[in-house]
Amino acid sequence: MGFLSKERRQPTLMRRIESFAAWICRKFLRAEIELLVAVLMAVLAGRRRDIVIRDDFRQKHPHYRQFIVDPNPPATAPPPPPKPAEPTLDWRKLCADYEAKHGKPLTPVRRRSPKSHVPAGLTCQHCGAPSDYLSFNDGKLRSQLRCKVCKGLSQVQRRLRRTDRANHWCPYCGLALYRWKVKPHVTSYKCGNDHCPAYLHALARLNRAEKKLQRQRPSQFSLRYIYRDYHFSRAQLQLPAPDFSRVALSRIHSPDNVLGLVLAYHISCGLSSRMTAWCLRNIHQIRLSYQSVLNYCQAAAVPLHRLNLAYTGPSDPLCAGDEVFIKINSDRAYTFLFIGAESHKITSYHVADKRDTLNATIAMNHVARCAPGGRTTHLVFDGLAAYPAGVHFLNADRTKRGLPPAFTFNQVFGLENLDDISEQWRPFKQLIERLNRTYRFHTRAACGFDSMNGALTLTVLFVAYYNFLRPHSSLSGDRPVHLDQLDAVPTLQARWCKLLDMALALPQAA
Ligand SMILES: [Zn+2]
Ligand SMILES: [Zn+2]
Repeated sequence: MGFLSKERRQPTLMRRIESFAAWICRKFLRAEIELLVAVLMAVLAGRRRDIVIRDDFRQKHPHYRQFIVDPNPPATAPPPPPKPAEPTLDWRKLCADYEAKHGKPLTPVRRRSPKSHVPAGLTCQHCGAPSDYLSFNDGKLRSQLRCKVCKGLSQVQRRLRRTDRANHWCPYCGLALYRWKVKPHVTSYKCGNDHCPAYLHALARLNRAEKKLQRQRPSQFSLRYIYRDYHFSRAQLQLPAPDFSRVALSRIHSPDNVLGLVLAYHISCGLSSRMTAWCLRNIHQIRLSYQSVLNYCQAAAVPLHRLNLAYTGPSDPLCAGDEVFIKINSDRAYTFLFIGAESHKITSYHVADKRDTLNATIAMNHVARCAPGGRTTHLVFDGLAAYPAGVHFLNADRTKRGLPPAFTFNQVFGLENLDDISEQWRPFKQLIERLNRTYRFHTRAACGFDSMNGALTLTVLFVAYYNFLRPHSSLSGDRPVHLDQLDAVPTLQARWCKLLDMALALPQAA
């Protein structure tokens, strides 16, 4: 069957390669094609280390070295032991019957060596006879008991692992997890049960090539239930604030209105700093360099970050989160954003160089802090493993303090709805994706940031604009956070200035 399908595939591939060769012949001169062939020959002969031929290993082994975090947290107590079935016979009655029949009582088992001693407390599962009437039926294994009264066989219930020192139990099979890896910031626990339903399910999902590889390199496949217990401190989870700028707002020589215009053009309209300087010069006859535009923004971001924290208010019961990819000095970085599903306000934002568990936890921790009365918030996010890992950490931390869990969550995987859960929660994923596009529009003019502080500055200003100034169509033209103080202010630049006034009136530590 496999051979046939390969046969059928081969001509299609051949036709595609031939048409590609024909396209090359149409586009290039003879000398160029000779050069191309020479390069390809060198690659095939292994003489070109700089050119790597595409490898289909990952396509054939999609589960190889996959980092997954199980959505279920571990159990904090062992499951209750299974209730033994009630004996259907009565050993006392059987003994009495024996005595009536044989004229003498049934004697207990005579032990020849101390090794054959059956511990007190073990009873026959069929008639309830005590250990005196039981003997081991399988020699050294000592797992099966034979009853002298009813002749029945019973199993000895063994504990597979000492559970008195364990703290976490597998949510699938109930067995105690063993400590697998210890690192400074995280301790990993693993379920070692070969009959665990989670392990068997993961094993069944492997394709034939993966099963073969798994037998050779079992450590390269994550199949068993793993729980990562992170050790983040309170200080590590603080939301970073923009740095103090070189220019103090009080020392900006231009009147306040200029600062409002700078923010209106650069943030609200999403113009670049050079374009903002150009507009100020040509529309308003205000001479300002593009560097001053950047400095003004940096100066405004420091108090506006405090304003964001102080005025955003409580978070919604349902929030959606995602990370936007940005560039800082041509390196990858990420902005984590969490938006309320009802009010459409940005509850949490965090700029980071990595999308790891710590940074996802910092962003989510702020959502939890904004939840009124320690309420449990439902989160919707994508398949990034850092989110469920962070939720497990924050929930475990709250449980230790005797509080209800901070979060419940659903993950929406991929671009298509392949399961009911993705279909149900997809609208909230789309909500955060729309926010990501808006964020990109208002920060795209920066064309990549020069520093982490620059990225954070623009993010703070974007959030202030989005939450307090930007009218939202689904809120009938209102802003996500309605501030009455802005109602009487007619122009955008004046509203920016009003926001700054309110921000500067806040105490420094807010
Ligand atoms: Zn019995
Ligand atoms: Zn298990």
